[in-house]
Amino acid sequence: MSGPRASVRELLGSTRARLSAAGIEEYRLEAEILLQHALGIDAARMFAGLNDPVPAGVEGVLTMAVDRRADREPLAYIIGNRGFYGREFVVTPDVLIPRPETELLVELALEWSAGRSGLRIADIGTGSGALAVTLACEIADAGIDAVDLSPDALVVARSNALRAGVENRVRILEGDLAGPVEGQLYQIVFANLPYVRADTLAAAAEELRREPVLALLGGEDGLDVVRRLAPMLPSIMDAAGSIALLEVDPLTARGAIAAVAEALPRAAVRVERDLAGLERCVVAELG
Ligand code: GLN
Repeated sequence: MSGPRASVRELLGSTRARLSAAGIEEYRLEAEILLQHALGIDAARMFAGLNDPVPAGVEGVLTMAVDRRADREPLAYIIGNRGFYGREFVVTPDVLIPRPETELLVELALEWSAGRSGLRIADIGTGSGALAVTLACEIADAGIDAVDLSPDALVVARSNALRAGVENRVRILEGDLAGPVEGQLYQIVFANLPYVRADTLAAAAEELRREPVLALLGGEDGLDVVRRLAPMLPSIMDAAGSIALLEVDPLTARGAIAAVAEALPRAAVRVERDLAGLERCVVAELG
């Protein structure tokens, strides 16, 4: 097409219209994010330059991104990153996209860690490494072991540790649950394991089904993986003082509490709610 090039404002308008027509609920925000991504600039610069002509090549990149989004690919996979606890994380379709409710686990761990030093932390099922890398950034003298079954996820976790400059304190280990860290003792154990029930996943939005099923599916009742981890906890938690933080599905939180309480009869076990008021984290404290 010849003629004067569209302005950034015009392109933003047409992108919003396309996403809205495709049924994307947050089409305004998502249009802004996709356009920033295509332009390679941040929101402030984009809004300051709304009247500027769109540079050559940008429309093509944007069209491809909008097509992918209209086809229900999650936004984070298209732009390749997602914010978590104030930092940017690389995400690919090999990892679960970090969720805001998972920040609750960070807050609870940081609260517990106040006044303690030299902490050893395990992140079982680290995925993108969001929890492991965040804790390494927040607690400067902590040593973290980040475990995942998926080698592809661990590539992403490693790149996030490198980007954050904490690769010397985040050990990346491949294997099933606590298998690779058997014989080690930790003061903090994170586990955001797959916990989505099979029926929930089958009925979920297409976007959720684009995420790795390995990171989501917890079997018929959602508790398969939690039930396998629970009996491993006593051998990796420091009896003198430790905390385990398991993210759970609010639908099955009670079953997760029962599994953890049975495995750790001496622990104080409770459930914490997320910002939406949903039971989201099973907490077990020893010592
Ligand atoms: N919170 C995720 C969801 O959207 C599930 C994450 C998980 O299984 N750990 O449902």
